[in-house]
Parts: sequence; C-alpha cells; structure tokens
Amino acid sequence: PKNIMVESHKANNKYLNNHLCEIEEAVDKKLIDKDAQKVVKTLNKAGHEAYLVGGCIRDLLLGHKPKDFDIATSATPEQVHQIFKRSRLIGRRFRLVHIMFSSRKYIEVATFRSGKVKTAGNGVIVRDNLYGTLKEDAFRRDFSVNALYYDIQNSQVIDYVDGLEALYNSEIRMIGNPVERFKEDPVRMIRAIRFKVKLGATIDPKISKSISNQAYLLANIPAARLYDECIKLFHNENAYEVFEQLVKCGLLNYLFPQTKETSFINKTLLNTSKRIKNGKPVTPAFLFAVFLWEAQNKRFNELNKKKKSRFLIMIKASEDVISKQTEQVLMPRWLSARVKDIWLMQYQLENCSTKKAKELIGHPRFRMAYDFLVLRSESINPELAERAKYWTKLQQ
Ligand code: ATP
Ligand code: MG
Repeated sequence: PKNIMVESHKANNKYLNNHLCEIEEAVDKKLIDKDAQKVVKTLNKAGHEAYLVGGCIRDLLLGHKPKDFDIATSATPEQVHQIFKRSRLIGRRFRLVHIMFSSRKYIEVATFRSGKVKTAGNGVIVRDNLYGTLKEDAFRRDFSVNALYYDIQNSQVIDYVDGLEALYNSEIRMIGNPVERFKEDPVRMIRAIRFKVKLGATIDPKISKSISNQAYLLANIPAARLYDECIKLFHNENAYEVFEQLVKCGLLNYLFPQTKETSFINKTLLNTSKRIKNGKPVTPAFLFAVFLWEAQNKRFNELNKKKKSRFLIMIKASEDVISKQTEQVLMPRWLSARVKDIWLMQYQLENCSTKKAKELIGHPRFRMAYDFLVLRSESINPELAERAKYWTKLQQ
C-alpha cells in the first residue's frame, strides 16, 4: 500500500497521525474514478497543480462510494479548456470547465479561488471569480468536511481547516464565521442541514443558532437555484429526516411556505427513501404534489363557495397554489403540469364508474395518481382504503 501523508496547518498533529492508516485504507479502495485520475495526471503533466476535492474525498474517507469527482486546479478555466479537447466552459456565478467523457458523464474542474469575494451592501456574494492559491481555495469552501484535498501523485491528503478531525468526530463545522458565511451565500444553510443528515453528524451550535436567526435570507435566492437544492434535499435515502430537520430549524418555511407537516407527507417521504434504497425511480412531481396537497384543498374550499364547475375550481385552486410556490422555488413547466394531473385525477380515482376506470388505467399519469391515492388512504384519508384496494385489484 502507498504511504499516505497528511499535510495540515498543524505541523505535527497527533490526531491526524493516529488516523493515517484509516485514510490509507479509505483512499486505496480503488474507488477513485479512472477518468478523474486521468484529468489530474494530464493537468500535472502540463505543469499545473490539480487535486480531487470536496464531496468525493469526504465520502471516500467515510467509506462511501462518491457520486461524482470534483477537481481543483491552479490552471485557469481557459487553460483547462485548451488542454482538453472535449471540454466546455460553463458557469454564471463561477466559471468552471466540464470535461466530457460521454454524453452523460463529465468531470468538473474548478480553478483555485481566493477567498476575496465581492459582496453587495447586504453581504451577498456578487462575484467570486478571483483566482487564488490552494490554501485560499480551502478557506473559501463552506464546511470543513468539504475542504479536504487529495493529491493523487503524492498520495497525500491536504487539510488546512481541521476537516479530518471534524469528519472523524462527525461534526459539521463552518469554515469561518457562520453569520458572515451564510450572509455571503444563504444556500449554505440548506447545505448544512443536508450534510448533517447525510453524514449522521452533529452541527456546531454556532451554525444552528445562525440558521435560526438568518433563515429569512433564503427569500432572496433565485427560485431556480432553490429548485436544484430541493431536488438534492429530498431525492435521497434520508428524505424524511431532512424534512424533519428543515421544519425544526425554520428553513422549510422559506422553501415551502404553504406546507405544514402531515402524516401524508411523512408517509410519502419514508416511502421515497425506501424506493431509492431499492433502486426504484422517484420524481420531484410526486413530492411537490404531496407537499402542496393540503394547500390545494384549502384553496379549493375557499373558492368552492362561489359554486362554479368543480373542474374549473380545481384548476384555479391548483394554479393559485403553484404560482404562490414558484415565488420561492421554481417548478419547471413539465413538473407543474404533472402535479396538476396528479391532483385532478384524485377526484376521478375516488368517484369514477367501472367503465371509466378501465380507460383511466391507460392514462400516462395513472400510476402516479394511484400511488398518491394509496398514500392518502394510508395516512390522512383512511376512508379511501376500500377505493384504493379497488384500483389495486383492477390492475391485476
Ligand atoms: P454532494 O455532491 O455529495 O452533494 P459536495 O460536497 O460534493 O456534496 P457540491 O455541491 O458538489 O457538494 O460542491 C462541491 C464542493 O464545492 C463542496 O464540497 C464545497 O467544498 C464547495 N462548495 C459547494 N457549494 C458551496 C457553497 N455554496 N459555498 C462554499 N463552498 C461550496
Ligand atoms: Mg459533489
């Protein structure tokens, strides 16, 4: 086995030395993606520094298979782009390079950034494109467990921020002052919760406190970015616990302002976790439909007093609830269309005749609407249990 070293700001860190063997084992598991290794080697050959960084090193050291491999380098995005034929420059806030290995697979390469960010009057980052050194790059990252680098050439983990200590103690610690770092980028609050749950870690009390005080900052984040974050939050095995934590720390209000915890939501999130564990597909449309179901019912009842066609009121209620939601978190068109389908089909599933039922089974959204009905019957609407059984039998 290779001899793995740790470079850290503490010259002779006893704690780290004790864990050298574990690190060696973890990184030696051949779990490092071949293409990522190639990219690092190619950059090194061209005379640039290049390291694996972030989530992949965190996950490797915990013995998990990383889902992607990010690379940090001293080369500028333009230099990286020139070295790799099949690459493209991307990024609005940050300029990054994607090196393509297939139509679906790419490796993301980011140039070291200095911590010096340009902020607006309210402390929000408006530009973060000043390049820096490896060390500066470490300090501009969010949490210490996310700021570990791995030098493939020298088999060395580089840790400037006590990330290894936090990792082995299972602690989410902010690099720098949480109040300031959350002001710079409020999405870090959501990330704190996501990593806490993902790693089964504890959160530094300073982080929890500043989330409670600053949750409202999420109101200013672009809806499209929050949509991406919501997918990451709930499309994993810990969806239920993530939801609980978001409620507890007050962040849920700024993602789904119309949503209150219900047994239907809990049941659905546990079901989502199970599906992901079993490799079954999940769609955000289903989750959004569940999160907003109570609000849609409430709005329906408000509108219903005016005695128009039931169908038209359903549509109006759906549109009102969806448009309020999208003020906060974007719902792409295909997604809101599916959410509406699921909702509109509930009435039909509850009431239609047997003749109509055979037709409904062929509807492209039938499966989702049926799953929705079943979960309702197992939580908030036990009176629908018979009807759910009816549909189950009909499909056999
Ligand atoms: P995962 O991919 O498992 O969700 P990750 O840690 O790799 O987790 P990414 O969003 O892929 O998360 O980001 C890669 C790295 O970039 C992070 O580990 C962190 O070091 C840095 N990073 C990402 N987002 C931010 C942010 N908002 N502020 C500061 N650093 C960030
Ligand atoms: Mg990642």
